Amino acid sequence: MSAGAARRGAARVAAVVTMAAAMCATVHQRLDAGTLQPTDATPTRSTAPRLAGGAGAGPTGSTGTGLAGSTAPRPTPSATPSATPSSVPSATPSATPSSSAGATPSPTPSSGAGAAVVARVEAGREKPVNRPAGQPVDCRRVKCVALTFDDGPGPYTDTLLRHLAAHQAPATFFVVGQNVAAYPSVLRRTAAAGHEIGNHTWSHQDLTKLSAAAVRTELARTDEAVRAAVGFVPALVRPPYGAFDNTLRVRIKRPLVLWSVDTLDWLHRDSARVARVAIRSARPGGIILFHDIHPTTVKAIPRVLKALSRKGYTFVTVSQLFDGRPPRLVYEGDAPHQG
Ligand SMILES: [Zn+2]
Repeated sequence: MSAGAARRGAARVAAVVTMAAAMCATVHQRLDAGTLQPTDATPTRSTAPRLAGGAGAGPTGSTGTGLAGSTAPRPTPSATPSATPSSVPSATPSATPSSSAGATPSPTPSSGAGAAVVARVEAGREKPVNRPAGQPVDCRRVKCVALTFDDGPGPYTDTLLRHLAAHQAPATFFVVGQNVAAYPSVLRRTAAAGHEIGNHTWSHQDLTKLSAAAVRTELARTDEAVRAAVGFVPALVRPPYGAFDNTLRVRIKRPLVLWSVDTLDWLHRDSARVARVAIRSARPGGIILFHDIHPTTVKAIPRVLKALSRKGYTFVTVSQLFDGRPPRLVYEGDAPHQG
């Protein structure tokens, strides 16, 4: 399979689907504040922006025609509770449940160097690193699917890592910087297990509503936290709520990664339902959106792994899905697979 074919495939999927999205700044706050107990006690975000008709209803078909916006108005920033501080609270080490290392990043970065990190990345002086995950996979020939987990790390991430390990399934984690600062050792274990790490901003705000400087800070602080925890800077960015515009596309020099299947797991805290949607909606080349901050989601994953394995899927990271070179805008799902 030629590189040209791969590129054509990539181009085909570089369509945009901004479905429901709607994440969870509230949860972030609670996690960071250490108030989120390891039960499913987190109240549903009542501020959820529109539930797009298509969201969760599965992939947007195999034609590669992005249904962008056909049913799903851009999520509104009102999903971000007013509690969302612009002054981001510093990490709360005491929130770290499972690591003896606490929230002390091992390689201590020069603090406040985040902007410099991004500047180096964007100037090409510091290369973002994709953690290699297992063997190379030719997703043009193999039925690949990428499971992605947003908004962590959190108290349930370690359990998820065990589930993934049991199936030798690499995944991609789009992490929120302030949670990385609170759970650095969880992120270390995630990276050490071969999963890919992406930047999901520091405080999960709608980037389209922020100034250029604020966008930069959101990304930079997260880059810095990730680098402090695992030693590399994420190569991928997933904008909160899937919200972006042309300005951001130009401004952010890394691939913006969306998804083809939204399980709406943050809304339906129902493991059976989450599993059912994921299994039913998976398509070759797809990217499935989950949130590992919900125990109901983590509980659904063994079933997802089992069922999709049975259907012949190979689990890959987002970068693996694109042979290591994701397009600048990802995605729509059906792509590199042929046949
Ligand atoms: Zn999110």
